[in-house]
Order: sequence, then structure tokens, then C-alpha cells
Amino acid sequence: MSTLRFHAIKKTLDRKPIVFEETERRSAIFGSNVFNEATMRQFLTKEAFNSVMSAVENGTKIDRSVADHISTGMKEWSISKGATHYSHWFQPLTGSTAEKHDAFFETIGNGLAIEKFGGSQLVQQEPDASSFPNGGIRNTFEARGYTAWDPTSPAFIYGTTLCIPTVFVSYTGEALDYKTPLLRALFAMDTAAVAVCKYFDKNVKKVNTSLGWEQEYFLIDRALAASRPDIVQTGRTLLGHSAAKGQQLDDHYFGSIPARALSYMMDLEVECMLLGIPVKTRHNEVAPNQFELAPIFDEANLAVDHNSLLMDVMHKVSERHNFKVLFHEKPFAGVNGSGKHNNWSLTTDTGINLLGPGKTPMSNLQFLTFFINTIKAVNDHEELLRAAIASASNDHRLGANEAPPAIMSVFIGEQLTNVLNELENVTNGKLSPEEKTDLKLNVVGKIPDVLLDNTDRNRTSSFAFTGNKFEFRAVGSTANCANPMTVLNTIVAKQLTDFKVEVDKLINDKEMKKDDAIFNVLRDYIKKSKNILFEGNGYGEEWEKEAKKRGLSNHRTTPEALKAKVSKKAIALFEEMGVMNKVESEARYEIEMEEYVLRIQIEGRVLGDIARNHIVPVAVQYQNRLIKNVKGLKEIYGKDFKKFAQEQLNLIEDISGHISSINSDVTRMTDERRTANLVEDFEKKAHDYCFKVKPLFDSIRYHCDKLELLVDDELWPMTKYRELLFTS
Ligand code: ADP
Ligand code: MG
Repeated sequence: MSTLRFHAIKKTLDRKPIVFEETERRSAIFGSNVFNEATMRQFLTKEAFNSVMSAVENGTKIDRSVADHISTGMKEWSISKGATHYSHWFQPLTGSTAEKHDAFFETIGNGLAIEKFGGSQLVQQEPDASSFPNGGIRNTFEARGYTAWDPTSPAFIYGTTLCIPTVFVSYTGEALDYKTPLLRALFAMDTAAVAVCKYFDKNVKKVNTSLGWEQEYFLIDRALAASRPDIVQTGRTLLGHSAAKGQQLDDHYFGSIPARALSYMMDLEVECMLLGIPVKTRHNEVAPNQFELAPIFDEANLAVDHNSLLMDVMHKVSERHNFKVLFHEKPFAGVNGSGKHNNWSLTTDTGINLLGPGKTPMSNLQFLTFFINTIKAVNDHEELLRAAIASASNDHRLGANEAPPAIMSVFIGEQLTNVLNELENVTNGKLSPEEKTDLKLNVVGKIPDVLLDNTDRNRTSSFAFTGNKFEFRAVGSTANCANPMTVLNTIVAKQLTDFKVEVDKLINDKEMKKDDAIFNVLRDYIKKSKNILFEGNGYGEEWEKEAKKRGLSNHRTTPEALKAKVSKKAIALFEEMGVMNKVESEARYEIEMEEYVLRIQIEGRVLGDIARNHIVPVAVQYQNRLIKNVKGLKEIYGKDFKKFAQEQLNLIEDISGHISSINSDVTRMTDERRTANLVEDFEKKAHDYCFKVKPLFDSIRYHCDKLELLVDDELWPMTKYRELLFTS
């Protein structure tokens, strides 16, 4: 009997929810472990406070002498909250977060010690971080990387450590993390958007990017997860026959949250409150044991940090509740995978959401300007946007079970489609006063009424307009949002910059009025962006054919998709917008390709091990039982035995067939892996892993899953889908 599997099931069945009681109002504890504005006022001198605020609001540099005051204030606050250590907290290109804790404690001779934290330790650190991926930027003789304080994301206390959000750059200034290019892209967006806003309101001085992510995840009992070597090592099941009942009855979606999961969520949410993560929504998702958590949106850099922090906190809190959180985009075949929708918008310092229709024709023209420029940006850079969400794990999700496909398209809803159709027909050149009045009254002026009903129910569009924001839905649940946010903000910033140039040209060279010029350029953009607009069901062959006709890319695999990151166009774009230089773009491409190889390599090894060392031996064991049974029948019935043993004989043969297929496929996969490992060129290596190694996973899995249906349940070593997904 398979002891681990049954032991895990028993353990799960015996569990009781860990009682969690909320003792304080959330509003009262919100942000209490964050060095936020209120705390800064309390712990900083006026000069230090003003200096931080000005750095946050205007990007000004913080003077070194002031840094000493700030660090002292931070230290006092941290110690008053029980912290003993500080850490520069950063997001290297591994995708997770990194921290190295140092104690405040310092000796001062004569056996005495004090708590110390100076300005220089706050501002810059040199972690011994030479093992993080750097894509060749830091070669061995200059392996130093620095972390530098990012004052736009406030420090926070987690456990007993003061965490200081930082960027991570090489000695020569190249970005080694996700945050640095994001900050540069947000700056580019601010600059480009403010310039365009000035057409409509001269008072706008800053445009902030907002991000509201929605995190999907699975919760699996810790014992059950531990019983599956594939979940332990790869975060997903590499095999397993689907359960008779999956999600077809839709009885989990938005249903009442199971007691154990709810306790976990409450505990998690309180941790989030302390850390200033404004979590708001929780609900069951479509697949069994799948859930979603969403916060109130925030400034993008902060929201990205919050999401990275959240994923870490989710793991930590799950241990207290005997769960394992699965962030993988497709932990179980045949049921929905997990995404991380990125809701994105732009807001001015005058309080206007630039993607929210306004109350007057002029504010609506501003809305349409940003709306249409965004569509044009996605149209022109769809391939780069696809590359921004590419990963080995997201490959499994895109295009399957209601997830958006690998094709980028923009959904805008019927009403806005009509508005664009009207705008497309405006006169080329100067508009007559009558036409302008008509436009303002009947087209631009009518947007607020019609928008309310704007939804994309089937959710298969990768980029959808949802009332006052765009929702980038193709982002995977494991992703660091900084990557897609960097690309999205860069392409829109570039587009807005070009727009400004074109409009100014019409105003200056053609002596057009400002709104005539804007209408003219927008009309032109609508004509040019038709390919990306798609209102239909983004699922299946029909759309794939249509997308191909339109010339849209459809890269189903990561190695194919990532290439767009280093196209001439992409490198020039990132350079022009000051987001990444060529070295940085190329390094990221290489790192992501290598990561892809490593992931598939690990999966291949784990699958080979499970198939050969767990599945095949059990199949043989069961086959021996059958053989014994057949022999017994023969003893009793002599030459008539076949009448009674036919089923067993068939089974014996079927099992042999599957065993021999598994063995030959595993051998082939191992050989392909060995050959691929010898390939020096990283592009070819990723290609070989993708097209030679990985396809064998499917056939190995097929035969293992067939055996699962044949072999005695008592012997089966791998915890089954119905147990993983339905035991609680
Ligand atoms: P759903 O997409 O599930 O229907 P909502 O549309 O209500 O849910 O919101 C989803 C997410 O969008 C939330 O995290 C919310 O904070 C975020 N969001 C709402 N408005 C904006 C905005 N202007 N900018 C960015 N995110 C936003
Ligand atoms: Mg959503």
C-alpha cells in the first residue's frame, strides 16, 4: 500500500480550521508597520520629512547629511516596534524578493554595544549577491552589485526586520532587478503624459500610473502537497488523471469560502493590513481549491512591491494553516489556471483618471486621447507585450480553459467601438464649426452615459477596457508585475510622445486649431489600430485564423515569444525612452531564456523520476498480482481458464504496453536533455528544450495517467486529482 498518500489523506481529513480572531478594526491597524507619512512626521525632523516627501513627489535627491537624520528616525521607530535587524529589500531577476538581514547592534569597545543605523547604510549597500542572475552584466572580476534606497516605496517592518525597498544595480549602473526599469518607465510615462495633458489643462504637473492586480492562487493541504514530488519540486502536477468531477458544475466559483481557507485569508489579510497592503476582495475562483485576492489599486511602483511582498507573506501565513499556496499558472491540467490581471490606469495630480470618461466634451476628448493612444501602443507593440508575460509556466495557461490566448488583442465594448467608428469619419484637415459642434455634442459628449454597461463577460481578451482602466489579463499568477508594467508604460509613453509631436506639427505647420489637430491624429490612429481591436471570443481556431490574417503574432511558447525583447525595434524603443540600454535588454532576454531551460530541465528530471521510480514499479507489482491470479485460475480450470482470465490477461498486456512506452519515452527524453545540455548557444538550447525535450512530457504523462486508471487504487503512489482538489 502506498503509505505516504494515505497518510497524507488521513492527516488532511483530521485537520480542524486554525481559529483566527480579529481583535482590532482594520482601519486602526492599517499601515502600522509602515514608515508612512504619519509615522515620518512623528519620527523625523521637519527637514528630513520634507526631504523624503520631495523625493517621493518630485524625484529630488536626498542629501547625505539628511539621510543620517532619516536613518536615525527609522531606527528609533523600528526599535520601538520590536525590530532588531534591517535589510535592503529588492527584487532580483529570479522573480522573487531578496533580503539580507543585518542587526542594528554594534559594539563600541570596552564590552559595550549600541543600536546603530547610519545614513550610508540606509542609502546604499553592497550585498554579496554574486549568485543572482545578471545575464553577463557582471562578469567575475567586477561581480559587485549595489542596492540603493527607493524612497518612493516606504520602508516596512516584517517580523523583526526593517525592510527598505531598494533598486539593485551593477557597479557600472546597469539594472540587475525588476524595479529599476520600472521606475524609469514610470518616469517616462509621467513626462510623456504630462506633456499631452497640457493640451487640456495647463495645471497638470504629474501623472501617476496606477496598478490594481488581482492575485489568483490554489490552496492545497500541506500534507497532500508534500506527498507529490512534482508539486514539491515544480509547483505543479506533472501527471495525474483528471477527477470525474472537476469544475464543470461551477459549484466552487463565488461559493461560500471553506472554513480552513477563510481562516487563512483572515490571518493573511490582517498581516497585509499591518504592512499597508490595501487588500479588499476575496473569493473562490472557478477551479476547486482556487481563490483570488485583490487590493485597492495603488501607484504602480508601490503596487508592484506590495504584490511581491504579498506572495511572500502568503507562503509564510500558509504554514500556520497547514496549506501550501500554489502560484503556478497551471498546477492542474484540465481545470482553470491562475492569472494576475493587471488593472492599469493613469491619474493626474489634479485628481483626474485619464482613462475615465469625464463630464464635459473637453474632458472626454482628453479621455479619448489617452484611450486611443493606448490602443495604438498595444497595436504597434503587441509582440513585445506578449514577450512581457512569457514564462515556462504561463505557456500552459494561455489559450487553455478560458484564459486569454497567446494573441494580444484589445476589447473595448460595443459603445466605444461605435465612438471610434464615428471619429474615424471626421473630416481630414480642418473641421467645420458645425462638424465640431456635432462631434462634441453627439459623439464625444455622449460617452459617460453609455459606458456603464461596458463589460467583457467571456474574459478571453488579453487586454480589455473595463470602464475606467485597462485590464491586462494575460499576466501570469507567478509573474512579477514590474515586467509587464515596464513594457506597457514604455510603449504608451513612446506613443504619447509621438502623438505630441504629430499634433504640434499640425498646429504649427498646418495652422490647425488644437482640437482639430487632435481629432485628425486620433482619426489616423483609429485607422491604423484596427488589427488589434477584437470584440469576439478570443478562444479557439477561428480567432487564430483571423489573427493570422491580421498579421498579429501568436507565439505559443516562451522561447519564441521572448525574442521580441531583443528585436531592433524593442532595443531602440527602450533606449529612446531611457528605460533600458541594449546591454540591459539583452541581459534580460538571456536570463529569461536560461530560466526557461532550467524550469523545463527540472520538470524533465522530476517527471522521469516519478515515472520510472514511482509509477512503473507499482504497475509491475499490480501486474504480478494479476499474473498470480491468472496462474491460480489456470490451476483450477485447466485449459478452460481463459474464459475466466480474459480480462486479467488483457490488463496484463495493457500494463506492459504502457510500461514499455513510459520506459522508451523517458529514455528518449533523457537523451534529448543530455544533447540539449551540451548546446552552448542559449537560444538553441531553449529551443531544443522547448521542441525536443518538453513534447515528451505529454506522452509520458499520457501513459502514466492511463496506468492510474488500470492499477489498483490501494497501490497507487501518487495522490490523485480528486484527493488534491477535493479533500479539505
Ligand atoms: P473585476 O475585474 O474582478 O470585475 P474590478 O473591476 O472591480 O474587479 O476591479 C479589479 C481591480 O481593478 C481592483 O484591484 C481595483 O482596485 C482595480 N482598479 C479599479 N480602478 C482602477 C484604476 N483606476 N486603476 C488601476 N486599477 C484599478
Ligand atoms: Mg478583473
